[in-house]
Amino acid sequence: MAKYTPMMKQYLQIKKENQDSFLFFRLGDFYEMFFDDALKAAKELEITLTQRDGGDEKIPMCGVPYHSAERYIKILIEKGYKVAICEQVEDPKTAKGVVKREVVQVITPGTIMEGSMLNEEENNFIASITPVINDFVISYVDLSTGESFVSFIEREFKDVISELYNRPVKEIVVPSEIDNQAKADLSLYLNATISTEDEEEIPSDYQYLVEDFSDERLIRGFGRVFQYIYKSQKRFLLHLQKVVYIELAQYMKLDLYSKRNLELMESIRDKSKKGTLLSVLDQTATAMGARKLKKWIDRPLLSKELIEERHQQVQALIDHFFEREELKDSLKDMYDIERLAGRISYGNVNARDLLQLKRSLATFPSVKEILNQINNDLLQNLLPETKPYEEIYQLLDAGINEEPPISITEGGIIKNGYHEQLDQYREASRNGKAWVANLEADERKRTGIKSLKVGYNKVFGYYIEVTKANLANVDLTRYERKQTLTNAERYITPELKEKERLILEANDQSVELEYDLFVEIREQMKNYIPALQLLADRISQLDVLLSFANVSETNNYIKPNMVDSHVVHVEDARHPVVEKVMKDEFVPNHFNLDEETNILLITGPNMAGKSTYMRQLGLIVIMSQIGCFVPARSAKLPVFDQIFTRIGAADDLVSGQSTFMVEMLEAEHAVRNATNHSLILFDEIGRGTSTYDGMALAQSIVEHIHDHIGAKTLFSTHYHELTALEDTLHQLTNVHVEVDEHDGEVVFLHHIKEGKADKSYGVHVAKLANLPDDIIDRANYLLNTYEATSSIREKSTNEEQLTLFEPKEEPPIQRDLQVVHQLQDLNLLNMTPMDAMNFLYEIKKKL
Ligand code: ADP
Repeated sequence: MAKYTPMMKQYLQIKKENQDSFLFFRLGDFYEMFFDDALKAAKELEITLTQRDGGDEKIPMCGVPYHSAERYIKILIEKGYKVAICEQVEDPKTAKGVVKREVVQVITPGTIMEGSMLNEEENNFIASITPVINDFVISYVDLSTGESFVSFIEREFKDVISELYNRPVKEIVVPSEIDNQAKADLSLYLNATISTEDEEEIPSDYQYLVEDFSDERLIRGFGRVFQYIYKSQKRFLLHLQKVVYIELAQYMKLDLYSKRNLELMESIRDKSKKGTLLSVLDQTATAMGARKLKKWIDRPLLSKELIEERHQQVQALIDHFFEREELKDSLKDMYDIERLAGRISYGNVNARDLLQLKRSLATFPSVKEILNQINNDLLQNLLPETKPYEEIYQLLDAGINEEPPISITEGGIIKNGYHEQLDQYREASRNGKAWVANLEADERKRTGIKSLKVGYNKVFGYYIEVTKANLANVDLTRYERKQTLTNAERYITPELKEKERLILEANDQSVELEYDLFVEIREQMKNYIPALQLLADRISQLDVLLSFANVSETNNYIKPNMVDSHVVHVEDARHPVVEKVMKDEFVPNHFNLDEETNILLITGPNMAGKSTYMRQLGLIVIMSQIGCFVPARSAKLPVFDQIFTRIGAADDLVSGQSTFMVEMLEAEHAVRNATNHSLILFDEIGRGTSTYDGMALAQSIVEHIHDHIGAKTLFSTHYHELTALEDTLHQLTNVHVEVDEHDGEVVFLHHIKEGKADKSYGVHVAKLANLPDDIIDRANYLLNTYEATSSIREKSTNEEQLTLFEPKEEPPIQRDLQVVHQLQDLNLLNMTPMDAMNFLYEIKKKL
């Protein structure tokens, strides 16, 4: 350490306290980085690495200009890094020795607030996880909108991940005691930056956020995240709203697998919005609405009453076409009030933001008026009283100019007539300028010089310019020479200088006063933060309901009938996403599960539409429970408490688990947690292992669901043997996907019918996919052989009441088949014991 300069020592000292961040160390007009930070940053930011002398070693160094730092910070944050901003905190001119420097803020993926770094349509959450004995408290905060939530999760760490999945959480604060596997899972599944904070006491400035809470565990839970925020932001944020306790029991539980498999907000293939339920439902007009819609999709309701309220609101909006169009237009003019409230608190709104706020508020009374015309209590009560918003409007309308500059330090922000002193300064400046404007004419008259000009430049200020030819007419007792040009001389007079001083002073004073007045308005706006947040919440709800109404009308959705009984009757149901992307007509299908029918066992060839049919019901249930209408001709649905899925294709490539392991994990999760009010969608369970294994597991899972859970279940399988279960499991019904077959050509009708499928047509699908003829022919040959064998097996299993468990080996092949035929042909009555022994010896040799 001794060998370093005092400034470098200061750097190292500060870096020691900010190990996990890039330290942006302010030096003049640059933020510099040194040592490892510099090596890493040069690579990540693609900037030049240089060196600095450090005694006997060269210190790697790189830097970014202060004025364009935001761009670089953004790159690092998007890559999941943190950046500690270290500024000079005393004036270099008056400093003794090394200028004092301090980290003024640590910018992290979960704490960004700058508009340009945020995705408009997405929340930016920072979460914390706090283990409490055997359970967990999770809390999450969006600093840009000021929302905070806390939930309690019983037992399973897996549920913590499910709960945070889709949120979207950018950063997770954990205690250092949490184990490495858990940390790895978090960053893997949630793609979030993991940060550590051990202090659980809530900073005193933020105590008020939790004053309604008495549960010590919850308080500790968000204590952690607020400690972290407090330490990284190093300032008090006024706009944080009181913490909301999310009682998870009030919402449908969707585990990670279901969220993923049903492609609610992200497609499985490329994690984009394309092909998701969200993409179909999102016709929101505001960014606030887009964020709200994601929250709703993530948390379908469980209260039948609340669900029906939303349905009624959507119905009312559908019934009022013109009002709806007007509302849509008005909402388009709504600025992101929620995030603006955050920026007001943070102190970084400019006059243009406030002007946009004013315009948003200008449309508010008319939005309310239109809602009143719709004459639906629920909609009318949705929006808050207009009073505080009128006050804000008046304040901004009186104060802020219609076309203010972006900068708040150059004047031009405040309206005339808002403040007397400001008007006086402006008047003085105007008078002075008018006097100068007249001066040219006056002086021309006085001197007789027709070409005399009055001008202004930055260096000399106002001057009188006389061409060389006219110099004889200049009265040097009045004029004082200031500057000589090739063709002219420039002069000033004491009077002119005096006016100039007055003008400049008035300008300076008015700019300064304008800044003060603006800050004052901005401060006053802080009182309205809660009102603005309330408005944002309600407008965003309205936006989502409008979106539901539009989507439902355009796509011919109908209002589901929510029932108390345990039945599902959906006529002509469609898949909301597939029907949009299909070239051909989508074939609608029914779902009929009465009180006594809990399980539909679905058979039919690959590609027939089994998993589409299953997902369809999952999506319809979610749509109905978030308050939207559903794609069907009619629908009678109960409220489901959870949805469990095991649907193919979502092989867990990321975590490196085998398909079969994932299948089993998903199945395990479902059978352990499902209730008789749950929906289970199991597609081809057991597919990932050998036939007997798979079939055995599939059957035992079906039996377990049937006997012990009683959840409504759609179970597709290619094990035709399982269709025999209909005889013994009375809550199970066979259905199959209809297929048309002519001269060996197969046509998929995508139509679900009662009863079981007769065969699986896998080879036909292969043919459709244009596999070479020799492969197809050989497959057909093998298939016939297998079918011959399996008919023997079926005979024996039927006698043993379908015990599919015994045969542990691979399916018999041709050689075994010969043995079986030999056995069948054997006439035992004509054999001596010795013959039998010899025969046994022969066939044993063959096996
Ligand atoms: P399976 O699960 O039986 O293998 P999928 O559900 O994956 O079959 O469906 C295969 C394809 O058939 C889908 O990609 C879709 O294009 C089409 N399809 C499925 N169901 C329907 C339907 N009801 N109407 C029209 N096309 C359908």
